[in-house]
Amino acid sequence: MYPFSFTKASDTREALNAGRRGGRYIAGGTTLVDLMRETVERPATLVDITRLPLDEVTVTERGGLRIGALVTMSEAAADRRVRMLYPVVSQALELSASAQLRNMATIGGNIMQRTRCTYFRDVTAACNKREPGSGCSAREGFNRTHAILGTSDSCVATHPSDVAVAFAALAARVHLLGPDGERTVSFGDFLLRPGSTPNREQALRKGELISAVEIPAHPRPLKSGYLKVRDRQSYEFALTSAAVALHLRGGVIREARVAAGGVGTVPWKLPAVERALIGERPSDRLWTEAAEHAADGARPLAHNRFKVELLQRTVERQLRIVGDNA
Ligand code: SF4
Repeated sequence: MYPFSFTKASDTREALNAGRRGGRYIAGGTTLVDLMRETVERPATLVDITRLPLDEVTVTERGGLRIGALVTMSEAAADRRVRMLYPVVSQALELSASAQLRNMATIGGNIMQRTRCTYFRDVTAACNKREPGSGCSAREGFNRTHAILGTSDSCVATHPSDVAVAFAALAARVHLLGPDGERTVSFGDFLLRPGSTPNREQALRKGELISAVEIPAHPRPLKSGYLKVRDRQSYEFALTSAAVALHLRGGVIREARVAAGGVGTVPWKLPAVERALIGERPSDRLWTEAAEHAADGARPLAHNRFKVELLQRTVERQLRIVGDNA
């Protein structure tokens, strides 16, 4: 680990001032400290933001939910409003990481976590995300766990978060605080596809930090759930996953929200699947036909072609689980 200085901000203004001077924000530290130990990350200054008042879950005026950036994963998963209104969020959280990590890691940090591409974490390997212009070892290397959607010539790494997939499906918004004030960004615009600059992962301006994630109100009842397929049943990242939320009225699907994880360079919305569902009545045939669109546009690599069919099956199964109970 390289030497660094550490400061604990006592309020938001102090944190933002330190951030403007180039300090790196840290809360649970479950990703950043690992990466610093491996010398992948080398921040000169860490700014502890755990004293900031960003640790509450509140119901918004319009009936959505606002989850503070410092709410831990376990707190968010256990919150009765999250469980009642958006089970897809609590399920995604409970299927993430380990209990110990969920007790430390925060919602803001979870979204900000960096890829688990092994070449990214190996400082001897070429990696455009870690060192722009050095190349991508995964493209010609072992790429079984890598992305099939949203990739570029520069990078094919997946975004590792589960709850981000649920947030993407539910059209969440990210609230940001910065030296120039507050602003809000849609979840789809916040996490960036790699393009030619995979080192740039979020639409953050200098010194900004996440203050909350807001899930808008959706028509009720909204049935939802998260399915994660992985090599082992705990403490493992997704090979594929599906976040599904459906609203039915009069036996017809009026609203469909579907996103996939483990397959995209960012949490991957599936608008073609959603379009195939809206206006239809639930049936086995509908789930199968809609899920056939799940991998539209996929560009598999040498070792992850299996993800195309696995993704379609994951989405189909989760549509059936949620839709047959809606
Ligand atoms: Fe680096 Fe991305 Fe290539 Fe992995 S896939 S080696 S993170 S550039």
